[in-house]
Amino acid sequence: MNRTLYGNLIFELSKKGRKGYSLPQNYDRTHSTSELPEALRRGEAARLPECDELTVVRHYTNLSHNNFGVNDGFYPLGSCTMKYNPVINEEIAAMKAFAGLHPLQPAETCQGALEVYYNLQQSLAELAGLSEFTLNPCAGAHGELTGLMVIRAYHESRSDESRTKVLIPDSAHGTNPASAAICGLEVVEVKSLPDGTVDVEHLSQLLDEAGSQVAAMMMTNPNTLGIFEPRVLEITEMVHKAGGLMYYDGANLNALLGECRPGDMGFDVMHINLHKTFATPHGGGGPGSGPVGVRKGLEPFLPTPRVVFNEKDKLFCVNTAATPLATTAHDDSADASALGSVGSFLGNFGVMLKAYAYILTLGRENVKNVGPLATLNANYIKERLRDDYLLPIEGLCKHEVVFDGLADKSTDVTTMDVAKRLLDYGYHAPTIYFPLLFHESLMIEPTENESKETIDAFIDVMHTIANEAKSDPELVKTAPHNTPIGRVDDVLAAKHPVTTYWKSLEG
Ligand SMILES: *Cc1c(COP(=O)(O)O)cnc(C)c1O
Repeated sequence: MNRTLYGNLIFELSKKGRKGYSLPQNYDRTHSTSELPEALRRGEAARLPECDELTVVRHYTNLSHNNFGVNDGFYPLGSCTMKYNPVINEEIAAMKAFAGLHPLQPAETCQGALEVYYNLQQSLAELAGLSEFTLNPCAGAHGELTGLMVIRAYHESRSDESRTKVLIPDSAHGTNPASAAICGLEVVEVKSLPDGTVDVEHLSQLLDEAGSQVAAMMMTNPNTLGIFEPRVLEITEMVHKAGGLMYYDGANLNALLGECRPGDMGFDVMHINLHKTFATPHGGGGPGSGPVGVRKGLEPFLPTPRVVFNEKDKLFCVNTAATPLATTAHDDSADASALGSVGSFLGNFGVMLKAYAYILTLGRENVKNVGPLATLNANYIKERLRDDYLLPIEGLCKHEVVFDGLADKSTDVTTMDVAKRLLDYGYHAPTIYFPLLFHESLMIEPTENESKETIDAFIDVMHTIANEAKSDPELVKTAPHNTPIGRVDDVLAAKHPVTTYWKSLEG
């Protein structure tokens, strides 16, 4: 790539009077110069770049080459599960019969789409071991908020309004406490033991002190360190005994898929990120989907609309009624009030199509391999890197592994430096400085899709970087060297983003 020519901003490539378009004459019959009223017209011409078409095409094509996605290379971003999205998923989501639907179309005219929607609800319920799912929430955090609203509505329906506390382990994803706070609930932190699992004695103490005020406990299992909570059954039992519900953060269900189910562990409410576990693409704020499932008895508290199958007419229909079908309502919640709607129409349908295609492609048998393969890949990386990188917690991990920076602490090469150096070798960096339990967290999640050759090549590069840190620490500390831009000031970029060219000139 010729960076001097094409690394410029489009404004810098501009030549006065150069054009890449031709517009027809104004066809306004009154022959006035513009159809816009005078008052709406700008006083001076917009300062737009003027370029020929080829320059524009090359500029944006070259910019796109500076991006990095799963289709470009290994992307081991722990917790975020950057899983390959098979091409067939995209093809199905793009089919005109799906992509051309209108959300207000009568149900009789889109039975196929509603059937897919309904089947996905059922598939997720089966995979999760829960009774019913809503596909309406549009992200993981949106699902968390919806799930907590379900829990609050449940307690309110029993006139148990004193339950305002949510117990959350200190290893939790940041969205957990944020969602609880947005829902108007109070966050109470549960400590972790040195091995990264929940401190059950601390939990017991919290329940003794204020058990009657606990609305729910939110858990991620395997937790954000990739460790399966060995005492999960005991934990769910303790919280239930105190009258609280158990919420499962299933953003990343990869380790469990086909192996075990949150419902069987005693969880009452959960969300799943289709845009992680079920392969649909994400990042950059693209469309997501965070379906929420509940155990039997909590269905009436789910939001509407829902897709249901009407046995009498043999039709799938969109149910917008505030109270759900009598057949799904549990006796003790007969007067429950549904939440109403949490988003527009039925949610991000395109994302659902991709997830459903992924589930069907694998099938009942192969879906059982996802968890074991993801776990095998993470443990292989863990064992092969443990001499060079500090492994803070021994034992089997699940779908992801966390190191606490380089093993050799005599060089002052940090996790940030290692992450930046990986970019030079053509890899996306793992998640860094999360979870917060360690100072130099480096969280690697390979997913089940990667070949042994890809993983071996990554391991070799990680070894190389560990050696460079000893032999030439400056090289690592000043990385990246091969990317279009070097290190940016993250804090400045976040706090004072400059998003316009003219502003940057003036500033
Ligand atoms: C990604 C993630 C979330 C949040 O999901 P979003 O779709 O980004 O809102 C919540 N919990 C865990 C454990 C996650 O990995």
